[in-house]
Amino acid sequence: MRAAADATPLRVGDGRISGLLGVFLGALSVLAVLCFHFPEWLTTPELRAAYPVGLLRWVLLAGMLLAAGFGALSLLLSPSKRLGFAGIALALTAEWLGGAHVEVDAFDSPVVSFGFDWLVLALLANSLVFVFIERVWPLRPDQPTLRRAWRLDLAYYAFNHVTVGVVLLTTTFFSETLFGWAVHDGLQALVRSQPVPLQILEVLVVADLTQYAGHRLMHENPWLWRFHAVHHCPEEMDWLAGSRMHFAEVLFVRSLVVTPIYLMGFAEAAVNAYVVWVGIQSVLIHSNTRLRFGWLEQLFVSPHFHHWHHAADAEAIDRNYAANLALLDRLFGTCVSPRERWPERYGVVGKPLPQGFFGQLLYPFMERRRAR
Ligand SMILES: [Zn+2]
Ligand SMILES: [Zn+2]
Repeated sequence: MRAAADATPLRVGDGRISGLLGVFLGALSVLAVLCFHFPEWLTTPELRAAYPVGLLRWVLLAGMLLAAGFGALSLLLSPSKRLGFAGIALALTAEWLGGAHVEVDAFDSPVVSFGFDWLVLALLANSLVFVFIERVWPLRPDQPTLRRAWRLDLAYYAFNHVTVGVVLLTTTFFSETLFGWAVHDGLQALVRSQPVPLQILEVLVVADLTQYAGHRLMHENPWLWRFHAVHHCPEEMDWLAGSRMHFAEVLFVRSLVVTPIYLMGFAEAAVNAYVVWVGIQSVLIHSNTRLRFGWLEQLFVSPHFHHWHHAADAEAIDRNYAANLALLDRLFGTCVSPRERWPERYGVVGKPLPQGFFGQLLYPFMERRRAR
């Protein structure tokens, strides 16, 4: 019965949208309070230093109040009280744990910490912006926000955000320990002497060239493809689908991209601008949106361009590798971009991958064993 009820599309007025919003905001509030309690373990050192803590406490308070409010609304509207009670219970739990008033004492940072702060803030911002875009300018209006496999992609989203500390440690080891010998002070001084906007453009070119090479390698090398196939297995595209990525791929690609940026010694402001750009761009290009960007699509990767990268249509196999600069695929002859048409279907051609998170995590290794 529950499965049948869950499968019915969400409708305004039946209490499930408010119920889900209550649970979503309540869960994020509990996580946020835990971040205030255990900042040394649950927050990211690189972000922590820049936080406007007073403002974040107000956001947390608003989140808790909204969770309780949506929960109450759901109780009024919905015949099933499950979601309404859960939202209110989560808001009360956040308040019981100290709410927006938890004091933060001075602490020493451990070697590695988890990015629960990054998960809460990114999920809040991404869901607000991209669900709005997908509802106002949808590519496939019949595809619901909570489509098939959304739970799996949310698990990927959470895992790949929470482990940001491990990713940063790995990329730092790869770039600074393995390639530290290649640092040239004269080159770095020259790079940093340029205006920041020019440096931002250069970071984009350098990072995207490396990303293009790494991405193409993962498509053309059968062993690496087993890892990258995980990113290609969603059969529906939306803002959350792009987070489906094998953890080994995250480590591999980030390490590759960070190394030339580190060696060239770009100014921090230029690197930060690139990180913000990529954070937004990588979610936008997977979104279920028909938004087009005119002549800019000749230069930059758009949702239309990257949807074709995920297409299972024959003309699209091993095409459109670039993450930001579509120009690279045009330059290297790997571009497919039918002007008005969108792909018929998405996903991996041939044998399907396992459906679950752990099955997909083990998939590249199991496939190898079977091949032997
Ligand atoms: Zn790919
Ligand atoms: Zn993608």
